Amino acid sequence: EAKRRKSSVPCAYDPQMAETLAERLRIETELRDAIANDTLMPYFQPLVRLNNRTVYGFETLARWQRQDGSFVPPDVFIRTAENAGLITDLSDKLLRKACLAARNWPANLILAFNISPRQLSDQFLGNRLLRILKEVDFPPQRLSIEITESAIIRDIGETVRILDQLRAVGVRIALDDFGTGYSSLAQLAQLPLDKIKIDRQFTANFMENDKQSKIVRSVLELGRVLEISMLAEGVETDEQYQMLRAMGCYLGQGYLFGRPMPAEAVPAYLIDSQRNSENVSLAN
Ligand code: C2E
Ligand code: MG
Ligand code: MG
Ligand code: MG
Repeated sequence: EAKRRKSSVPCAYDPQMAETLAERLRIETELRDAIANDTLMPYFQPLVRLNNRTVYGFETLARWQRQDGSFVPPDVFIRTAENAGLITDLSDKLLRKACLAARNWPANLILAFNISPRQLSDQFLGNRLLRILKEVDFPPQRLSIEITESAIIRDIGETVRILDQLRAVGVRIALDDFGTGYSSLAQLAQLPLDKIKIDRQFTANFMENDKQSKIVRSVLELGRVLEISMLAEGVETDEQYQMLRAMGCYLGQGYLFGRPMPAEAVPAYLIDSQRNSENVSLAN
């Protein structure tokens, strides 16, 4: 593939590439419309305390359904939004909707919300998030923002300033997808973190792989020492759940506990999960 491209004339017509470009432009145009018409929806995936299987909160996951009914994966449209300068608008609208939904939940539940790398280099990010919380009357103490490691390395000083500003009013900070990025342990120590989310590739592999399970153990230990709560992503099986729980991991998230769901499905989920957690406490 690479060889073929090298040997071809620089401006040779490549139908596959043209299609990709056209497709990309089409997605960008559609996304612009979708944001303008406010058709993106927040879905919510439960975050669960592993010791008693009670619900700690929900992570907001953006969902975009096209006219034809198909869903575009967020990995794709978030990147498109970042590149097209649409991410701020997308994110603000989504946060507003997510808060309005979360206001109907029991008041102890946390709302987790992803912030993309691009946004963290915006010096007004903190002000804008706090303005939205005020507008919709959502307590900052119930919001947890999730940032990824790639966001941090760009400008650690500016990132820390923004995070400190948010933390000062009670917003929690979680480091997402831990173990897959490039941040150093030194950076980890500099960041004002409340939570670390261990990437799901560790959860997926640690049952079969002794080395992986040692890594998970030592990352959990690191969290204990730094007094940061730990969450395991991608918990899909009961074995993974029991193992993580035995290791003392505080929180879990994954298909075992629940898939991302629309706001309307949350109340029924909460009733159902209460039954589950009661069963767990009876079993203990
Ligand atoms: P993330 O923040 O790490 O979110 C977790 C992803 O893992 C979600 O994918 C979720 O559906 C998926 N997941 C959860 N449990 C399991 C499991 O047990 N097994 C497997 N295989 N997957 C599981 P999703 O919804 O496709 O989102 C992908 C990524 O897109 C997110 O990763 C996040 O980085 C980004 N994203 C989603 N919504 C937003 C948003 O509103 N803003 C920003 N900036 N990024 C977002
Ligand atoms: Mg996340
Ligand atoms: Mg994650
Ligand atoms: Mg991810």
